[in-house]
Amino acid sequence: MNNFSDIKSYKNWLNKTRVDFFEKNKRFPKIGFVPTMGALHEGHISLVKEAQKECDFTVLSIFVNPSQFVKGEDFEKYPRPVSIDLDLAKRSKVDVVFLPEVGEIYPAEFSSLVSEQSLSKELCGVYRPCHFDGVTTIVLKLFNMIEPTHAYFGLKDAQQFFVIQKIVSDLNINVALKGVATLREKDGLALSSRNIYLSESERLAAPRLYQVLSESKESLFNKPLKDVLLGARTKLEKSGFTFQYLEVLALPLLSRLQGETLEKGKEYIIATACFLGKTRLIDNIIFKAE
Ligand code: AMP
Repeated sequence: MNNFSDIKSYKNWLNKTRVDFFEKNKRFPKIGFVPTMGALHEGHISLVKEAQKECDFTVLSIFVNPSQFVKGEDFEKYPRPVSIDLDLAKRSKVDVVFLPEVGEIYPAEFSSLVSEQSLSKELCGVYRPCHFDGVTTIVLKLFNMIEPTHAYFGLKDAQQFFVIQKIVSDLNINVALKGVATLREKDGLALSSRNIYLSESERLAAPRLYQVLSESKESLFNKPLKDVLLGARTKLEKSGFTFQYLEVLALPLLSRLQGETLEKGKEYIIATACFLGKTRLIDNIIFKAE
């Protein structure tokens, strides 16, 4: 496994790999890219596996991107178990890990921003202002650095995926995107690097979130939206959750619903961000109205 911390060394590898691959195969390689913030778990590895299925080389980046953290969030204490991550990446047969320092990505004179203006204002965008500007800026920078043909994102962060899909379309970025289904613990809790923040009792309560989201999704077909969302909130508040949002929006543009009913054949997302104690959890289910 190659491990690069600077852009120049990565580009040297990329240029040489492309030439060698072309000479052998008479076509350019498919480069699959999995951007992460590290503290790797099987959810991240499910993206790697998807990339490996479709591509000739898989590049995984590990970069805790300061510009997507809002003031007061956990940038400083975000877990950074670098040697464990490198070991898991190696065992998962990743071809390249790109692990830059902040100064390599944001030199002192850096002064640009990529900002999606519509979808990024909904859901998490209300509570984490500028978060998605940080995400879209780093993702475009990483695309330009890594030059992937394909990039893989988890639907655990569904809004992030749809915002990135929008900038890829709006800005004619030549990368094929794939959203990968959320990997969950056996009890339903979505795998997340932040689950380590949960206390023992919070960890026991946490699976309730996905349970209630799943029940609510089913109820949406025979009850008014308002009642379903209120019922779900009440149930979860009883289990100790406090809410930023719990909403149903239409895909792929995260549009608000017209009225109380879902339109047959259309895709929707039921999405939430909430707290269990001090830990912020997000989860969602994407579904088609029948
Ligand atoms: P992060 O390191 O949290 O920024 O996540 C890096 C990528 O892994 C993002 O595309 C996430 O959506 C994805 N990811 C995180 N958790 C999961 C999960 N449980 N299942 C699938 N993908 C995930």
